[in-house]
Amino acid sequence: MADCVGGAERPPDRINAVFNKSSPSLLSAPEDDLPEVAVAGRSNAGKSSVLNQITGNKSLARTSKTPGRTRLINFFDTDIGGRIVDLPGYGYAKAAKTLQREWQRHLEDYLSARRNLVAVVLVMDIRHPFEPFDTQMVAWARAAQMPMRVLLNKADKLRHGARINALRAARRVVPEELITVQLFSAQTGLGRQELIDALTAWLTPMQDATAE
Ligand code: GDP
Repeated sequence: MADCVGGAERPPDRINAVFNKSSPSLLSAPEDDLPEVAVAGRSNAGKSSVLNQITGNKSLARTSKTPGRTRLINFFDTDIGGRIVDLPGYGYAKAAKTLQREWQRHLEDYLSARRNLVAVVLVMDIRHPFEPFDTQMVAWARAAQMPMRVLLNKADKLRHGARINALRAARRVVPEELITVQLFSAQTGLGRQELIDALTAWLTPMQDATAE
């Protein structure tokens, strides 16, 4: 059980998350004004493993991998005051082009119209960064002025020097302040606290923040 973090000085070292609902589109998304951080990535980049790592909750990722839910938008309530939203892994619906297009439309709707959205976490495989889908997501974040954290996941697959080179190269691709890049390993926990700190900052309502 996590302590209440309201007003706490120290950020939590994990985020408790419980499944709220799955929704095919924005139409049936939760109706309230809780802040949401969306997590996106190409299929197999390790999105589910990342969610596991920061929540310490295997059932969360399992929920997202449940057949029938993989193409849905999955909403999880957290104990830090907002929601984590698991967006469908891009490239999953290999079989049908029409499904891919439909999925893409729902994703675009969510990103462009969801007023709760405060930031996006983009999970990439450090060995294959900035594939077309990732580049598109980055371009969108840039255009929308949406804070984004890019995770170079599976960093454990590279040696130290290669990791640092990959991090530097990625930072050259996204030099702006709003889009930050970090190393991550869902396997070893590298970068875990750094990500939790960012999520906490985004999802925990500020005492003195005024709604727009
Ligand atoms: P998703 O499709 O993006 O949700 O990806 P998964 O979380 O299912 O991960 C895809 C594969 O990559 C699985 O075999 C994971 O065990 C593996 N994987 C995910 N993250 C890491 C990581 O940080 N390091 C390593 N070595 N393997 C990882």
